[in-house]
Amino acid sequence: MAEEVMNNKQIILKHYVEGYPKESDMEFKNNNVKLNVPEGSNVVVLKNLYLSCDPYMRSRMSKLEGSYPITGCGVAKVLKSGDSNFQEGDLVWGMTGWEEYSIVTATQSALFKIHDKNVPLSYYTGILGMPGMTAYVGFYEICSPKKGETVFVSAASGAVGQLVGQFAKMLGCYVVGSAGTKEKVDLLKNKFGFDEAFNYKEEKDLVAALKRYFPNGIDIYFENVGGKMLDAVLVNMKLHGRIAVCGMISQYNLEKTEGVHNLFCLITKRIRMEGFLVSDHYHLYPKYLEMIIPQIKGGSVVYVEDIAEGLENAPKALVGLFYGHNVGKQVVKVSRE
Ligand code: NDP
Repeated sequence: MAEEVMNNKQIILKHYVEGYPKESDMEFKNNNVKLNVPEGSNVVVLKNLYLSCDPYMRSRMSKLEGSYPITGCGVAKVLKSGDSNFQEGDLVWGMTGWEEYSIVTATQSALFKIHDKNVPLSYYTGILGMPGMTAYVGFYEICSPKKGETVFVSAASGAVGQLVGQFAKMLGCYVVGSAGTKEKVDLLKNKFGFDEAFNYKEEKDLVAALKRYFPNGIDIYFENVGGKMLDAVLVNMKLHGRIAVCGMISQYNLEKTEGVHNLFCLITKRIRMEGFLVSDHYHLYPKYLEMIIPQIKGGSVVYVEDIAEGLENAPKALVGLFYGHNVGKQVVKVSRE
């Protein structure tokens, strides 16, 4: 069989990253790729359509040995397949490369076939993909929420946070979110239906700010940022409160992470603080889709995306996460279907 060789534009990480990542840590390169499936192989050849920018990608930029193409979640079309579970023309999401074409195996990439195409395809990087599952598992499984409870969400307008707030509102909770700009605070209140929202960058005293919104304390904290916010939350928690530790983005670029001073509150207030990784919970994905797709189609859940056009703009989009430049889920559109 003749080999099909294509030019493959890629984003390469050039070197080990210290501190905040920069666009110049990455470069745009052209490499050739053979799009064939070797005899007897189970590889799947993908054409990438959308790539996802996610905070966890920062940790993969550390302790680097040699340069390598960046990997991350994405939505792709199957061009060729040696795996009988996938056929040419299928749409999939899973771990793929920051490049035009990727050659993967279904197991390594945790590929999911996309069945419902009557929703924006980019949603499979967000609400219908990993961040959506994170919000679902973190809120319903880890927080043990009950109607009428008080809920605080940090990084609330992002890929995960905007959904946590909406899930909590649907359950009948009182929900407050924090975000880093006025535009995001307006979105929280006017688009996602949070009861209250505040710009944490404008608050000199976070303990007092939380006290203002939660005079009787917080039952549930959905933790996305860590650091000073966590410290301020701890003293504002109610007895038997729950903290789902999803992420700590304020710490990812620091050489030395900040100390948390108020952990003693865990004891005095009998708080349950539990970390989780979405990857341990993918068996719940079908159940999640059953719940969320009708909600999207019926308009009871909304989702805001920030879509950068073109692979060459992916580094800027990824770096922007750590400066709060994204408004909603940060996606990169690589090519048309
Ligand atoms: P977002 O879409 O929310 O983007 C990141 C946002 O974080 C930025 O827009 C910014 O918003 C905020 N931010 C950046 N730096 C800081 C800082 N120093 N202090 C406070 N806020 C900051 O990201 P995701 O929704 O995708 O992820 C949210 C969190 O969930 C992250 O911590 C991530 O690591 C975690 N996560 C965990 C998973 C798990 O399995 N446990 C899976 C997926 C995500 P702003 O303008 O409001 O500051």
